[in-house]
Order: sequence, then structure tokens, then C-alpha cells
Amino acid sequence: MSDSNSQRKMTEQELVSYFFDAVNYGHIYNVYQPKMNHVTGRMIGAEALMRMKHPLYGLQMPSDFIPVFEKNDMVFSADLAVCENVCKFLRKCIDEGIPVVPVSVNMSRYDVYNHDYVEQVECIRKEYDIPVEYIHIEITETSAIGGMELMTDVIDKFHELGYKVEMDDFGSGYSSLNVLKDLDVDVIKLDMNFLSGDIGGRGGAIISSIVQMTKWLNTPVVAEGVETNEQADYMKSIGCNYIQGYLYSKPIEEAEFKEKLKKLDHEPVVTENELMHSIKSGRFWDPQSVETLLFNYMAGPAAIFTFKDKKIEFVRVNEKYIREIGMNLTAKEMLGLDLLDSLDEFNSKKLIDALNKAIITEEEVTCEVWRTVCSKICGEEKVLIRSELRMIGRAGDQYLFYAMVRNITAERRRFEALADSEKKFRMASENNNTYAWEYEISTKKMRPCLRCMRDLGVPAVVENYPQPVFDSGLFPMDYYDMYMDWHRQLAQGVEHLETVIPLTAERIPFRVMYTTEFDENGRPLKAYGSATLIVKDEEQK
Ligand code: C2E
Ligand code: CA
Ligand code: CA
Repeated sequence: MSDSNSQRKMTEQELVSYFFDAVNYGHIYNVYQPKMNHVTGRMIGAEALMRMKHPLYGLQMPSDFIPVFEKNDMVFSADLAVCENVCKFLRKCIDEGIPVVPVSVNMSRYDVYNHDYVEQVECIRKEYDIPVEYIHIEITETSAIGGMELMTDVIDKFHELGYKVEMDDFGSGYSSLNVLKDLDVDVIKLDMNFLSGDIGGRGGAIISSIVQMTKWLNTPVVAEGVETNEQADYMKSIGCNYIQGYLYSKPIEEAEFKEKLKKLDHEPVVTENELMHSIKSGRFWDPQSVETLLFNYMAGPAAIFTFKDKKIEFVRVNEKYIREIGMNLTAKEMLGLDLLDSLDEFNSKKLIDALNKAIITEEEVTCEVWRTVCSKICGEEKVLIRSELRMIGRAGDQYLFYAMVRNITAERRRFEALADSEKKFRMASENNNTYAWEYEISTKKMRPCLRCMRDLGVPAVVENYPQPVFDSGLFPMDYYDMYMDWHRQLAQGVEHLETVIPLTAERIPFRVMYTTEFDENGRPLKAYGSATLIVKDEEQK
């Protein structure tokens, strides 16, 4: 019907006077662009895009005619025509037994002001008897600017009727984050064209942090305008597998789209994260919310991080956390850092074991690890951090954790100093009434003090301690079970043991004590034992 010689862009005037004919004679038609899962290669949905073919001037593109229709209050009818085309098409497919996917239609920001847009869409859907899950509505961020309440209203109405709402062109506006926080959308469409250029540089960092954030909002992201494998792979690498763009397909005509539906496997969009089940998601990111205030000011030193594939990334830390650990970074600088980078192999394993235990038991798990931190004053420094870890959400193999921490370095050092002085004291105790010995936990070797050797005839090294002291009668058999159990406790890291035992052939009461020495990772190394003769007045106590 078109004369190719006269094909050209129509003028505003021509468009306005042509509009009603276009709607009434079916010159407005749809093309469809698939939305794909880049990982599985399956189709997850499609977007209906408006086209207009004038009998004389040929194909007209939406960027040329939609602004004119919007200006002249005509876009509403055009959008409904697109919606009706979608329903008609889906009805045909369903009737022919062709599997279908959800198709989204674009809602102009001018439709927001037209109060019965929602009702009209619902009316058309019902007329064609299309299940509501097959129609999605795309709204743009810019529709909300200046009319947040109207927008929220429209979204609520769609939700009440069971429609999914997608946020189109996310990232293009000035207040993306605020919009996201306030509008309850089901899918976010991130336009690569707005942010592209260098996915390796700033653009990439912005995209990655947007994707990171949308995860905590529990909202799937579709990257649009993806033209190259490089872009698609980058999106995949930051955890966004849903893709729409020329890489997979240009917008195609109905017949071709129908063939694709027949050929390609489909799959539903899934919310990748069910992580935020215990935190109200929108409020979590709102700097003014009660949740944020609690986290920042009421909680002790705390961090929220994700755990996946032996990677631990901070999502949020409060000021107290940074101070407690003694770090030199701002909360913002910490986001995305891998905690395991500050741990050596032993401590990494220890922490990962604790996280896995917290996952399995769903209970709070305590873990102490040595971390290397850079502090302003001391440069690189080792700190011992005790964390109470609790899993607060999961999605597939990704877990969200809440950690309350305490820096126990000073405590541990004090204890070490104490153990050290005790050791010196005991080993030097050739004095009065004390016998002392050193017990090596891993080898069960005991080395006595000179006095033990001289007075009691204990050899310089006793293997398989404490069995021999019962064999020789130095310790009474009544205490066998108890004393054997002590040595098991020492191996498990008990810090101090103390009781009265009657020793030697004469069964004289001695106060027997152990103090354990640990390595820097908290593993028990040695225990220093002593037996002190109880003087009469102590005995009476
Ligand atoms: P949009 O909703 O963001 O649609 C995506 C646009 O990006 C489409 O342009 C699509 O053809 C194009 N595109 C898809 N993949 C790629 C890619 O890999 N690279 C590049 N550079 N572009 C890609 P189109 O069809 O020209 O539509 C332009 C805009 O017109 C749409 O942007 C939407 O805002 C508006 N529009 C289209 N159909 C409708 C409609 O039915 N109603 C309303 N209100 N607006 C519509
Ligand atoms: Ca769109
Ligand atoms: Ca878009």
C-alpha cells in the first residue's frame, strides 16, 4: 500500500490530522522485542513497541510521532490500541496452542493523568480473556516526577488487579534512587544506552551499584539496549542475566515473533533474591527511615554483608563498626570490599566454617578471627574480632548476614601477658610449696620443673601425660576420670582449671591449677600446670 518514493517523516500537522484514521484503520501496529535470559538462552518475556505505517509516507517511528501525540493528548488512544493488539495476538496464540510469554506495553506519562487508563487496560484484557500475568505495564521514571502520588496510585491499582509493573529507562532520571524507594515496581529495566560508553569505567561502576542495590530491593533487573556480547557478559558478571536488545533480536513483526515463541524455550522471571525477608526493603535504603536510624545509632558495631562463593562483601556498615575495627575507611568505601581479603588462610577458613554453621543451624554463631586492617595511626595492624553472626536471608547460593562485632585484641593481649607472667612464675617456682609443669597439648608431653624431678622422681619428659602419674601412684585413681577430662578440656581450649587433689603417696592436699596458652588464632598450645601445697589456714576455708 505504500509508495516507497514518498516515504518520509510526517510533519506534526500531518500526524495530528492523520491520528484518528491511523487508530481506526489499524495503521498503528505492534512489533515485539524478546527479553531473554542470557544464561539459559530462554525467552522470559517481550515488549510491545508501537509502529505506524502511513499508506503514503510509510513507516513512522515512535520517537517521531509519540511526542506529537503526547502534546496533543492523543497518546492515550494509541497506547490502548497497542494494548488491544497485544491481547488480540496473545488470544490467537493461546487458541492455537502456542506457548506465550508476558508482554509488556508502554504507558505514556500522559496516561498517568488519564484516570481510567488502568480500567481501560483491564477492560481490554478481559474482553480477550488473557490471564493477567501475561500483560505487564512499563512505566518510566520520568512519569513519576512531579506526580509521585498519582503514580503510586496507578501502580497500586495495577497491583490490585494482579498486573506486574516494570520501571522503564531506569537510571536516566536524576532521582533514580528516590524513585525506586518510593515506587513499588516488580521489574527494573536498566537502559545501557544511558550509562554506556565505558562499562569498564564509571558507567560500569554505576551499573554495578544499581544492580547491587536492586538485589536488596528484591527486584529483578532487565538490561535493555544490549547490543554486544561484551555488554551482556558484563551484566551477567554483576548478577544481571536478563537482557533485551539487538544482541538477541531487533523488534520484530508479529508473524516472526510468533515463530520465535514456537521455537524458543521460555521461562518465568524469578526474583533472584529472597534476602530481605526480615528487613523492609525500601526503608532499609532510606537514610531517614527508622531502620537506618536504628542501624546507625542504636545498634552496636554492626555490619551487613553477603556471602557467596567464598566471597564476603559488605553491603552496609555503621560508623561504630568502623571505629571498633579501627579502620581508616568511610562506610561508603567499605561497600563491596571482600572481607576475606583481610584474613589469612587459617582465619578465612575459620570464618567461612562459622558462616556455614550459621546457615545450617539458622542460629547465631560466634567466631573470632584475626584481621589485618590499615589504620591511620599504626599503619597495618592485626586485630582480633569477635563476631556474632546471624543469617538474615538467602537467595539460591547467596546469603545475607548481620554481624555484631567486638574488637577483643586488647583483651586477648592482656590474657597473653598474664599467661606469660604465670608461666615465668611457675617455671621459676623452685620456691616453697609449688610444683610446676608444662603440658604440650598436641603431643601430650609433659615437662616438669626441677623440683618435680628432684623431689618426686618425675622424668624430664613424660609421654602420654597424664596416664603415667596414675600408674606411678602420684595421683590417686579416684581422680582419674576427672583429671583425664581436664586434659580433654584443655585440648578444646579451656582457659583455666583449678581444684584440690590429694597427691603423693601420703595423699597430701594440693591446689592443682592449669592455665592455657593460645596461639594467635586462639588455638590452645600449652597448659601450665601447678600443684601448691595447701597450708593449714587455707584448708580450713
Ligand atoms: P523504550 O520503551 O525504551 O523502548 C526501547 C527502544 O529501544 C525501542 O525503540 C527499541 O527498538 C530500542 N532498542 C531495542 N534494543 C536496542 C538496542 O540494542 N540498541 C538500541 N540503540 N536501541 C534498542 P523504539 O521502538 O523506537 O521506541 C522508542 C521509544 O518510544 C520507546 O522507548 C518508548 O519510550 C516509546 N514507545 C514505543 N512504543 C510505545 C507505545 O506503545 N506507547 C508509548 N507510550 N510509548 C512507546
Ligand atoms: Ca519500554
Ligand atoms: Ca526503555
